[in-house]
Amino acid sequence: MSAISTAYRVPFVDAREHYRRLKPEVDHALLDTLANGDLVARRQLSDFERHLAEYVGVKYVVGVSSGYHALHLSMLAAGIGPGDEVITSGHTFVATVSAIVHAGATPVLVDVGDDGNMDAAAVAAAVTSRTKAIVPVHLNGRVCDMAQIGAVASRHGLAIIEDAAQGLGATFDGRMAGSFGTTGCFSFYPFKALGCFGDGGAVTTNDPDVARAVTRLRYNGEDRETGEYHYHGYTALLDNIQAAVLDVKLRHFPSWVHHRRAMAAMYHAGLADIAGIRVPVADGDHRFDTFQNYVIRADRRDELRAHLRGLGIETLVHWAKPMWRHDALQLPDPRLPRVERLCGEVLSLPLNAEVTPDHVAIVIDAVRSFR
Ligand SMILES: *Cc1c(COP(=O)(O)O)cnc(C)c1O
Repeated sequence: MSAISTAYRVPFVDAREHYRRLKPEVDHALLDTLANGDLVARRQLSDFERHLAEYVGVKYVVGVSSGYHALHLSMLAAGIGPGDEVITSGHTFVATVSAIVHAGATPVLVDVGDDGNMDAAAVAAAVTSRTKAIVPVHLNGRVCDMAQIGAVASRHGLAIIEDAAQGLGATFDGRMAGSFGTTGCFSFYPFKALGCFGDGGAVTTNDPDVARAVTRLRYNGEDRETGEYHYHGYTALLDNIQAAVLDVKLRHFPSWVHHRRAMAAMYHAGLADIAGIRVPVADGDHRFDTFQNYVIRADRRDELRAHLRGLGIETLVHWAKPMWRHDALQLPDPRLPRVERLCGEVLSLPLNAEVTPDHVAIVIDAVRSFR
């Protein structure tokens, strides 16, 4: 990663610079954890869980080993299983759908709106007598329309499991992503807005039974107080050492959100008037967006991407083809024209805590020089 990143004038992410800025605090937390032999489910984990619960505005947080496991264990805790249908976005990371499949349920993919998030009317139209839950995916740091999706869920008695892997800090009607559903599912993969130095994730909930179930499921199904096994569980605990790192980084997170929004505003101002390019829908409609990714849509996306690469700018495409076109996944084609179109147009520009105004200016100039 680093060998490739340093070849770029503007890398998509810069893990070395990220660490350099935090080194004194992170080193202290790591060394303290190691010196105390705090390896599994110790104070660092419970501290981080408490601080994240305060930030998101929920009663319980259960740290798990990835965003994927947050989703999978949430499904199990919500009683989702074989014969159930679960509605989610056709434009999401594969883990959202894999968690539904591994719970034994059937994923039902729906189309998206202008902001790339699941369309609430499409959700309503997809409900059947077998539907058990809705999984809204708060893509790119923008919360789905939780007023409308919540109304569909309560009308039909459905659970909501939020895929908030890209949503930490984003709000809808003043409420944080991860505080609407039966659970919220977060990822601390290194390049998420709050990332650790490996894999990590968390489940947020206000339901004590769900918190207890996930707490047991993440650790071999065992009640650690009594030694009783309540499930055939998993080994999916958030590493204590990652929790120590995350607790340090969470203190910086609000300032990183502020920075991401400022850099996104700069991109907006520099790119909004270019023919053949659309800047992302942002804020408005009761929302506060955090820009986990800054995703433009370009008519000639692949040519633009090559042009930027030639000028030393690294970009990514999330995602180049719809999930159901990966044959091995054996998903039926749900015929979602808006997702198909997005896959041909989306381009993620560099945006993270380390990106500077100079970087953004270089990217804007480079995009403007594309013919
Ligand atoms: C990153 C991500 C996940 C999975 O998180 P991991 O920690 O990598 O397992 C799930 N859903 C979305 C939308 C993501 O972006």
